[in-house]
Amino acid sequence: MIKGNYEQIKNEAGEDVTIIAVTKYHTVEDTLKAYEAGVRHFGENRIEGFIEKRTALPADAEVHFIGTMQSRKVKEIIGDLHYLHSLERESVAKKIEQAGLHVVNCFIQVNISDETSKHGLKPEEVEGFIEKLKAYKYVKVIGLMTMAPNTEDISIIENTFKGLKKLRENIAENYPEVKELSMGMSNDYPIAVRNGATYIRIGSKIMGS
Ligand SMILES: *Cc1c(COP(=O)(O)O)cnc(C)c1O
Repeated sequence: MIKGNYEQIKNEAGEDVTIIAVTKYHTVEDTLKAYEAGVRHFGENRIEGFIEKRTALPADAEVHFIGTMQSRKVKEIIGDLHYLHSLERESVAKKIEQAGLHVVNCFIQVNISDETSKHGLKPEEVEGFIEKLKAYKYVKVIGLMTMAPNTEDISIIENTFKGLKKLRENIAENYPEVKELSMGMSNDYPIAVRNGATYIRIGSKIMGS
């Protein structure tokens, strides 16, 4: 089932989109099944889950941290942290810098429109934050990340993804290295892909629920 799900999403999303299987509600056993099905990018939103899945998976799998990161937790996973999708605080960047181990590819989490969410920078704050991060040798901003509000209203979801894409285009004038768009989950990834997602984060649609 995991294999069929993954194949289907791969066909729909096309070759230019990196699919991250979000394994946060699933066992190590199921995560290894996803690996056997060809998945090489995994997403976890908690430190414990990240460590557990990282330890179990072969070395050529990449585990992305997609949840809220607390600065005091950075040191617990920094050795294996190569992709962080939720950078929104300079204190986290400072911890990455202090560790000085390797470059961490980061997405800035942006709150495009969701008044109910506490997470993500406001669009107008993003460029200034990227400017500050230029001083950090071990923090490389490769893109922007957002989550669409939980709604049935497709036009709201569509406007969220269009808004992130537009913001990236504006920012890329000064920061051309900010190329990637991490957006789209099980319920809304077709809309995200249509609007330029380069990384999609899929839980239940791959792993089952
Ligand atoms: C859980 C989670 C996902 C995947 O959610 P699904 O709806 O199961 O696809 C994607 N991104 C983040 C940040 C998550 O926490």
